[in-house]
Order: sequence, then C-alpha cells, then structure tokens
Amino acid sequence: MFGWQGKLLRVDLTTQQIREEAIPQEVLHQFIGGKGLGTYYLYQEVPPRINPLDPMNRFYLAAGPAQGTRIPITGRIAAVSKSPLTNLYIDSQMGGNLGPQLKRAGYDLLIIQGKSEKPAWIQISPNGHAVNDATDLWGKTTHETELALRKADPNTQVLSTGPAGEHLVRFACLTHNYFRNFGRGGLGAVFGAKQLKAIAIQTEKVWIPTPDSEKELSLLKKLVQRSRKAKRRGHSLHYHGTPWLVDYANSIGMFPTRNFQATHFEGHKEISDESIEKKYHDDKRRTPCEGCVISCAWTFKKPDFKWAPAGQTGKIAIPEYETLGLMGGNLGIADTHAIIHANHLCNALGLDTISIGNVIGFLMELSQKGLLPDELKGAKIEFGDANSVLELLPKIANREGIGDRLAQGTRQFASELDGEAHQVAVHTKGLEYPAWDPRGKLGLGLSYATAAAGPSHLRGWPSTTEPPNASATTVLDSLLEQQNLKVLKDSLIICHFTHSISPRLGIKGCAEILETVTGAKATKESVNEAANRIWLLARMFNNREYDDAPRRYDVLPHRFMNEPIPDGPTKGYTAFISHKDFEESLTEFYKRRGCDTDGRPTKITIQNLGLAKMMSSI
Ligand code: SF4
Repeated sequence: MFGWQGKLLRVDLTTQQIREEAIPQEVLHQFIGGKGLGTYYLYQEVPPRINPLDPMNRFYLAAGPAQGTRIPITGRIAAVSKSPLTNLYIDSQMGGNLGPQLKRAGYDLLIIQGKSEKPAWIQISPNGHAVNDATDLWGKTTHETELALRKADPNTQVLSTGPAGEHLVRFACLTHNYFRNFGRGGLGAVFGAKQLKAIAIQTEKVWIPTPDSEKELSLLKKLVQRSRKAKRRGHSLHYHGTPWLVDYANSIGMFPTRNFQATHFEGHKEISDESIEKKYHDDKRRTPCEGCVISCAWTFKKPDFKWAPAGQTGKIAIPEYETLGLMGGNLGIADTHAIIHANHLCNALGLDTISIGNVIGFLMELSQKGLLPDELKGAKIEFGDANSVLELLPKIANREGIGDRLAQGTRQFASELDGEAHQVAVHTKGLEYPAWDPRGKLGLGLSYATAAAGPSHLRGWPSTTEPPNASATTVLDSLLEQQNLKVLKDSLIICHFTHSISPRLGIKGCAEILETVTGAKATKESVNEAANRIWLLARMFNNREYDDAPRRYDVLPHRFMNEPIPDGPTKGYTAFISHKDFEESLTEFYKRRGCDTDGRPTKITIQNLGLAKMMSSI
C-alpha cells in the first residue's frame, strides 16, 4: 500500500488500552483520508443524540494520503468529532507538523474514546505508546503544556487543550505549535470532557513511500513552479499572509463590523497588513507549516511583549485575517497591538478567536442597545474597549462571572435572554460566523446555511465577485464544485491556499495528487464522487440528530436575511434578493445534492454513492 499507512491507532481512555487496527482498503478508497476518513468513523461509531461531552463521543485525528510524502503544501491535518457547541458534526483543519508526524508514526487515523479517571496525556513514540498521568499539566496553558512535553525532545509535536477546554467552554480550541489551532466547534472541550490534556507524537523524519518516485518528484516540481509563478505575480498570501485580506474584505463590503451591523470598518487601515508591516517589519519571520512553498504564516522573532511564553521566542503569532476581522472590526477595535495580545491570550487559554469575536461582539451590541437584563448590567462593554476584552478572555476560559454565560456560545447565551436579543445573535446551527459577511457575495449564504459544520469560510464559496444582486440559483454550479474541492483538499490533505498558486489547484489537480501518492487510479469524476459521498455523509450524521426536517436547520441569522447593509460598497444588500429566492435556491441545491425537499438524501443517491449499508440507523 502506498500513500496510506492502512492502520489506525485506537486509545480508550476509560480502560487505558491502546491498540492498532487495520483500516479496510475499501474505506480508504471511498473516503480518501483526513476529513473523509474521520467522517466515516464518526458516522459508524458515535451513536445518535449523545451529549458531545459524554465519554461515548469520540475524537478523530486524521491525516490524508498526501501527508508525509514529498508533495508540498501538505503539512495540515484534520480533526472530526461531535461538537459541544452545535451538538452536530464538526470537522476542523490545522497547519503545523502534526499531520506528517502522525503518518510517520505509522497511522492514518488516531481515535480517542472513553474518559480517563484522572488527567491524562497520550504519548505516541517509536519506543511505545502510553496513556500518561497529566495531573501536573492540568490547569496549565497550552503554551506551558507544549513547553513541558517538548522538554525531553524538542522534535515532539504536541496538541493540547488549555484552561478553556478543561472548563468545557463550548468553543474551546486545541492548540499545536503555540499558535496553530483546531479552532472551530469546541474540540478543546471534547478533550476537557475526556480529561485529556494533550497528545504528543515523536517520530523520525522519514518519507512515506509512493509507487513512483519520479512521478512524485515531477509533481513536486510542478507545484513548486506554480507557486513561484504566483510569487512573480505578487502572491499576496506569500508576501503579506492572510492580513492582506483586511483591506480586501473592507473594499468589497464583507468586513465584519460591530457584530456584523456593518461591513465597512473605519479603522481597517490601522489593522491592515500595511500597518502590521510598518510596525513590525523587522520583528517578524515566516513560520510555515511543514513542507510549504506558499508560506503564509508569520510569528515574531524576538517578542518584546510581556506575555511571551517563558524561555521561548518566535512563537507569538501575527494574527490571521479571521482574528483581525472578528477581534478587530467586529469588536470595533482598531489597535493592532491589542489584537496581537488578545490573539496570544486565546492561543494560550485555548479559545477560538472566531467564536470569541462573535460572542463578545454580541455582548457589545446588547450593551449598545440596552438589551442586557438587569442582572447582567454590570457586564456592559462598549465597542472598541480593548482593555475590557483582554480582561474578559481569562474570565471566559475559567468560566468566571459573565464569562460563564459567554462560554456557552452565542446561541445558548441568546436563548437565556428575552426580546430583541435573538435578532442580533449571529450564528447558524449554533456555530458563530467567520469574518466574511454573506451579504457581500452572491450565494455565500447558501454555503453557510448548508455546511454540516455550520458557517465556515472554508466550506466552499461560489466563484463570483457579485454581491447578492440575482438569484442564488445562478451560482449553484460553482458553489457545488467549490464545496467538493474543499472536501477533497481536506481529505487528501492539501492546503486550501493552493487556490492561490498559478494555475490554481482544482479538482483535477486533487485527482493527480491522489493517484501519484497512492497509485490508485483517480479521475476528476472519481474524486468528485468521493467528495459527494463525504459531503453527504457529514449531512447524514446531522440528520440523525434532528427532531424534524433537516431543512429547518439550514438557515441564516435574522440579520443577514432581513437587515440591508447600512453603508459602504455593498450598501442595501441582504444575503439573498428575497426570502423566496433563498427557499427556491435551497430546494434546487438539495436536488443537485441528491436530497429531497426536506434536505434528506434520497434512496437512489445513497445507493449510487455506496452509502446504503451505512443507512440502517437513519
Ligand atoms: S499556505 Fe499557510 S496554512 Fe497553507 S500550508 Fe502553507 S503555511 Fe500552512
């Protein structure tokens, strides 16, 4: 077998048993790896309607067939579970070194189940695997945990939860390499509920063999050349990282501003890549994921900030666009230094900056509009108040005072409030929104409404530059193609930012990578079918959780459907030209995905995608 290792490692924290299992070849061919493989096992193993914090929930850490090979831009990894924030399917992707490391350890997949009696960490090493006592690590930040577990061997790759995960904050994240995160859906709380502090993987650096090393080398060269070509054309992601998107999103009227009340932030220049460059040019350095030739990520070389992790340099990150958008514009904060500090605190405490920027933005709007109930009046906080945000973060992570209410996420917090509060709560299926307002792009609302994980900027956008000025049905072809492309990249795994090399990596390119690393015949049609299968299975997982038709949950927040953007380039737009268009587009979308009008896959679709034998529980 090439590309895949064909094995998974199962760790039962209840019994402390660790065992290897073979992964059936058919499963690897049908679900590819990464997100696909995690989704397959989640669907098979996690019973419907359990509490995500119950020991019966499981955590799947999955690499893809490209990880650990010489194919570049493949340093990422996927995690899949049932989300404590949404009570539904969640998958999250992360950069760094963990994906190749898991493959080198000999596994495509790590499954963690049960619950430890006392705090534990999992060690995977060439000398043997173990569940170790983590009592001394409990209560520590992710940075302290990583430092402690890397002490003996700096090449050890660590994934840990912080105080937020230990306190079961519903949007707690998992952190690796001090600043990379499985950000979305509360995976840090899944660890916390299992009393699992961390996973540490040690391996020797070896390449995962592919069937034809010349073919592999030739594909490697092609991808490097395409990346060089993009650089010659001024590749923004390479030269400026994701912060360049602040100006871009603002210029096209999609930048989240004051809890999505607007899409054009007057302070955007202050937090743009230009401003970061001016302030920190000499202090920053590239910190790419393993084997990346795009290299979008930056950290500080010698941080002069007082919150630097002890004894470490270079591990305070320049915030990504999503953080600048949601902890900047969405909170009315135009202070780069404060956002860098807040981002670093979130990384240390294990908080998802996207959800944090939403939940605090929600609190700020409630304060602004006098919608806080009497007992919460003391929690009043103004847009732009960076100091109060910095004070609030540890309170959320430790569930103190108002922090305890916010730690539940926007949906749950809103459900405890009366009246107008619901109308300003921005979430779908309980997941808070990314930093791209759907009122700025035709059809984007359909992507947010239908993604199994909830609204994410990484689940496929229609390829259009138009705002919602026509029926969303006009961009359905491109939305479906882009959704499938994202599924494929997250299953192979290759970074989404390969959309920016020249020419960009599309579905055919994914087929070429799959065939090169595994030797198994792959065509544009066959990988597209696999993407359809994976996309639908994630939906089928959710469908088991609902009391009524899945369609009822594929919705957008009140704000995006009913409140036109007040100013800026997209002034006057809502996410769809009308409610009727949303409903018609959704029906057409279901049809194209092989579902009935309620959003359930039809028997024939299930049959055609080879999912029939998994359907007994639906
Ligand atoms: S482009 Fe950025 S996120 Fe993607 S693999 Fe490279 S460094 Fe990581």
